[in-house]
Amino acid sequence: MKDLSAALGERKARGLYRDRQVIEGPQGVNVRMDGREFLSFCSNDYLGLANHPEVATAFRAGLETYGTGSGAAHLISGHSSAHHVLEEELADFVQRPRALLFSTGYMANLGVLAVLGGRGVRVFEDRSNHASLLDGARLGGARLVRYRHNDTADLAQRLQASPAGEHLIATDGVFSMDGDLAPVAELAGVAARHAAWLMVDDAHGLGVIGPGGRGTLAQAGLNMTQVPVLMGTLGKACGTFGAFVAGSDELIETLIQEARTYIYTTAPPPALAQATRTALRLLREGDGRRERLRVLVQRFRRGAAQLGLHLPESQTPIQPLIIGDAGATLRLSAALRERGILISAIRPPTVPPGSARLRITFSAAHSEDQVDCLLDALDRLNAAGIIMECVTDEFA
Ligand SMILES: *Cc1c(COP(=O)(O)O)cnc(C)c1O
Repeated sequence: MKDLSAALGERKARGLYRDRQVIEGPQGVNVRMDGREFLSFCSNDYLGLANHPEVATAFRAGLETYGTGSGAAHLISGHSSAHHVLEEELADFVQRPRALLFSTGYMANLGVLAVLGGRGVRVFEDRSNHASLLDGARLGGARLVRYRHNDTADLAQRLQASPAGEHLIATDGVFSMDGDLAPVAELAGVAARHAAWLMVDDAHGLGVIGPGGRGTLAQAGLNMTQVPVLMGTLGKACGTFGAFVAGSDELIETLIQEARTYIYTTAPPPALAQATRTALRLLREGDGRRERLRVLVQRFRRGAAQLGLHLPESQTPIQPLIIGDAGATLRLSAALRERGILISAIRPPTVPPGSARLRITFSAAHSEDQVDCLLDALDRLNAAGIIMECVTDEFA
């Protein structure tokens, strides 16, 4: 039998032990932990909708109408009118004929890839893809081929070298730990030349970038012929919970028939779908929140540059400060927490070995003063030599 305590001890020694922070109130830019207030820069609540009063009101109204639980899977008796209308509204938002709700993004990716990436299919994935895309390819029994991050030449070469058969390319739209964008237009070109399917997971793009917040594909002007499979999540910019896949009628019907992570699970509470409908309406209502985010991100990048901190290229609310060593990243995260700032340390295997980081994220609900407060804390740690001491040369 596996020696669990030895494995846990080893994990601790390597700085890879994961601890949960217990948040004592609503999600937001200010969170309560251990009875203390912290200024948080590590949620995915990019638009500040997770605790928006109108969304909460819709949730409560949904409870009055639909009760608490859905009671069954979608294909039995759990598919409510709230789910159905939300699917139509999501399809309209991303300008595709159909959308299908899944309970989580993790399940959506597993479901799609298990169906489209069965045995005999080769699935090509960016090395920096989200874990759920990688796991999905394994679940379906496809052959998984990983290409260098955002390297379309490497991808094309691997496709070229691949035996005839079905090919599927899958990528994050905005990379979750780096904040950079996938070169989706180039990827669509490669996919077309090799008659491969292309799937984009836009968990961090939808609601945040592109015209009307319609995401990475809208920003690149790509349609459904070029990118047949679009996946989006509802727990990030939307501020609620769940996910969806959007595409053709045939794709959605196929998923309803075959995706096991859709079929064999209880439908999410209908009231949650009602809350998401309101969040989606707020998200579509003008670009004010997105504009605010852009201003805050630019302010942070400018300030960080003045402090001599190196940030990788990213125009999204995801602004990683790459440290390198996992233990050093933990120490830095703890030093910030002492100054009342919450930024969790992201370590392998979530990111490649030797690239542990503070994944700093912004929300439209942050104020400019709060961004300055973060910069001030980083400045102090920098002046005390704490940051430079931590950062591995490669990332300095
Ligand atoms: C968060 C995330 C998921 C998973 O979505 P959940 O709804 O949280 O399960 C999938 N892909 C990417 C890129 C993500 O960031």
